[in-house]
Amino acid sequence: MVRELIRDAAFLSRKSKAATAADKAIAQDLVDTLQANMDRFFGMSANMIGERKRIIAICNGPFFVTMLNPKITGKARKYQTDEACPLLEESCSLERYETVTVAWQDTEMQSRVTILEGFQAQVVQHLIDHLDGKLV
Ligand SMILES: [Zn+2]
Repeated sequence: MVRELIRDAAFLSRKSKAATAADKAIAQDLVDTLQANMDRFFGMSANMIGERKRIIAICNGPFFVTMLNPKITGKARKYQTDEACPLLEESCSLERYETVTVAWQDTEMQSRVTILEGFQAQVVQHLIDHLDGKLV
């Protein structure tokens, strides 16, 4: 189900809680909402649809990947960049890493590890910041 986007900074500034197997419907709504907003978004965090759970969805070619409880376990090649949040239409200069290793769980709660590079790595770092209540 496509949900309404939440732009309230006070809500978005709060930390999200760990996701569980009971949150599968939220993960699906997140994909549906991302799919409906692909003109501006390359990924979304669950708090953007009003659910303070540690779930993100990203585009991966024609597919979507939902990551529950994503955590950066490795990072390399730091750089400085200007980054904009499509939700808040604000941007700032910050440090990101070219390559990140992300440990996460799928909706069956199976543990996965993915290495991301470049733009996808940046999107995931941005979304994990959202889960931590950090806004650019
Ligand atoms: Zn953002």
